[in-house]
Amino acid sequence: MKTVFLENADPSFKHEVASKIGLEEIKPCYTCGSCTGVCPVREIIEDFDPRRLIHMIVLGMRKEVLSSDLIWFCCFCNSCYSVCPQGIKFSRIARELQRMALDEGFVNDKF
Ligand code: SF4
Ligand code: SF4
Repeated sequence: MKTVFLENADPSFKHEVASKIGLEEIKPCYTCGSCTGVCPVREIIEDFDPRRLIHMIVLGMRKEVLSSDLIWFCCFCNSCYSVCPQGIKFSRIARELQRMALDEGFVNDKF
């Protein structure tokens, strides 16, 4: 299990992501795991876990999230949205994370 050092956390990260997707904040996610249970990508890539990524955002793990390959694996199918009791659309979050990763230089957009 990876240790999270909260002195390295960025508390503004969750608010930035939330404002970009039009929510006040992402906190309403209560980590029920329904999204992860229906995600087709998760069936193929075990490490891909929308619930975990949201949790990392809430914890302020900006660098870890934006530098992760995992944010590029969402196929925007919205299966998770259809089962989320809190109406969270992870596909929108994934798109914003991808934009932020590009804008903040976490990926090289030159091929
Ligand atoms: S289904 Fe919704 S509330 Fe449950 S863990 Fe996923 S995003 Fe959070
Ligand atoms: S929208 Fe993304 S996270 Fe949600 S079920 Fe589809 S692939 Fe998984």
